[in-house]
Amino acid sequence: MNAPHIAIAGAGTAGHHLAATLREQGFAGTVSLIGDEPDLPYHRPPLSKDYLAGTVNSDALSLRAPTFYAEHDIVTHLGVPVRQIDRAGHRLVLADDRVLAYDHLVLALGASPRRIDIPGRNLDGVVELRTRADAEWLRDNLRDGSRLVVVGGGFIGLEVAATARKRGADVTVLEALPALMNRALSVHTATHLAELHAAHGVRVMCSTTAAALEGKDGRVHTVTTSDGQRLPADIVVLGIGVVPNTAPAAAAGLEIDNGIVVDEQLATRDPSISAIGDCAAFPLPCGNRIRLESIQNAVDQARYLARRIVGHTEPYIAVPYFWSDQFGTKLQIVGYATRSDRTVVRTSGTKISNFRFYDGELVAVESINDPVTHLNVRKILTAGGTVTPKQANSTVDLRTLARTLVG
Ligand code: NAP
Repeated sequence: MNAPHIAIAGAGTAGHHLAATLREQGFAGTVSLIGDEPDLPYHRPPLSKDYLAGTVNSDALSLRAPTFYAEHDIVTHLGVPVRQIDRAGHRLVLADDRVLAYDHLVLALGASPRRIDIPGRNLDGVVELRTRADAEWLRDNLRDGSRLVVVGGGFIGLEVAATARKRGADVTVLEALPALMNRALSVHTATHLAELHAAHGVRVMCSTTAAALEGKDGRVHTVTTSDGQRLPADIVVLGIGVVPNTAPAAAAGLEIDNGIVVDEQLATRDPSISAIGDCAAFPLPCGNRIRLESIQNAVDQARYLARRIVGHTEPYIAVPYFWSDQFGTKLQIVGYATRSDRTVVRTSGTKISNFRFYDGELVAVESINDPVTHLNVRKILTAGGTVTPKQANSTVDLRTLARTLVG
């Protein structure tokens, strides 16, 4: 094929890294990056942390200097969502009626905040946090003494709660499940986080959600909880998870199952279309299909796919990891646990790592202010090794174990 055109639908982390890695790999065809937001690709992690705190400016969000895209011959189409995928014609139709022909289409469409359908949802002051514009609104409207109610005790909810509290807001977090981040974390780590927030004056209410929002003159002022309490609120942040952006793929007849279904090479059943990042549901070596919402997943899948497009054929295998910063505490998670039946707690001073096992197999390690253990476990898992419950004990030197495997 002569000078093929790779069209990348989605200009987030995954889309950006795919475009950049294609050029690093010497891909000489046309690369188009299409995004629905008006901005060049930017880092989302600071949106709920330093950028929201106002301690860094917008330069800290840039993934690359604005000149990078032109210098690397990456054509950007920003502020225009993809409206339609014409698979038979190998064409994309954008929201402004522009038509782009492609040889290979990569769907890096990301995810959108899950919507909650309660009275008062559309009042002023009720916001989500996904985009730079969302973060700027919240940053500019949070005041010392603002009464903030956060619905959802997940990554967004807890990071926003910590940042807002540090800025002097009065913060309440409502989490529907009995513990914070109940699906993602062990009860040990969830309890640690709950205590951390409580120690900093955040009110955490588990097994509770928002039943209704009331306002005055169009602006929110009260949250009624599922157990009938009435909480005064100047701002309500909804952080109840995300749903993958699959609409154009579904309309084009691609298979959807909690995301755009891809194989171990991140290809859909249409050989001309691949999917990566938050929107892609991919198979693990054990055969289970998962969809991950993380920077690591977006970057690793993008880099992998760029290599596949230029001719490599190995399957996609990567060890997932996540991180979060709350009140100066660093939480790092390696692995992916939907369940565990045993947790071995490894401690050294203030460093804690909770090793989670299911049926004797290590499934995830949650480290609290313990980056060295996190890194050693990542090295061990990446090299195809594992840690037994006995080795998780703090007397075993994981660095030596990692060195033995990595060589
Ligand atoms: P999330 O981490 O999935 O957490 C959402 C939480 O809200 C879950 O615990 C969820 O419980 C709970 N919830 C759902 N419906 C609720 C309701 N009606 N009332 C109260 N609680 C409810 O999602 P998120 O915090 O919204 O974050 C959005 C995305 O940004 C995710 O992809 C996340 O990974 C990403 N993000 C990552 C980081 C990081 O890695 N540090 C930081 C910020 C954002 P269920 O489990 O029952 O749904």
